[in-house]
Amino acid sequence: MSDDRPTPRLPDLDHAPYLRAALDLAREGQAAGSSPVGAVLVNHEGQIIARGRNRVGEAQTPEHVGNASVAHAEMDLYFQVGKLEDPHTLTLYTSLEPCLMCGGASALLGVGRIVWATDDPWGGSGRLIRWTDHPAMQDTQVVPTPEAHLEREGALLFAPEAKRAFPEEGWQLWRTRYPRETAPADQTDVERT
Ligand SMILES: [Zn+2]
Repeated sequence: MSDDRPTPRLPDLDHAPYLRAALDLAREGQAAGSSPVGAVLVNHEGQIIARGRNRVGEAQTPEHVGNASVAHAEMDLYFQVGKLEDPHTLTLYTSLEPCLMCGGASALLGVGRIVWATDDPWGGSGRLIRWTDHPAMQDTQVVPTPEAHLEREGALLFAPEAKRAFPEEGWQLWRTRYPRETAPADQTDVERT
């Protein structure tokens, strides 16, 4: 700890309430016809300063990017908040592990920490890179799935979307990573046929 780098001023936060807020936004996205993914940005005082959710299934508006595959929850949040002040003191909470685009955007913006409720074994950055090896993310702390019950809640929420959006190899990865949480989505198919 004796190097010359400034000490990050990341607060010691209780992750659970912020992950719950991201999960609430994920449900809002689902209700609006988009994917169930949500995100909140939290400052060093523990205040939520921006909220975002997936809007891929909705029209683009002056306020929100939508109707395109880049309309992820994190991008919705970053476009709303604009220029970040003291980004290294901020924590991004997401319901689902960020993809390469959103992880990269967070790193480019200098966000100090990323915390997510549930891994995404198909679309998450972790399938393609080791988060800790990413050259753009060396100054970003990464905290995967710190709350087991919220990890399970997030997996149950996203599993039907995972099965719909990437039904083959991606769904297999989901079933392997979250066997209990993906079982209801498979059961639904059995009942339908
Ligand atoms: Zn993304």
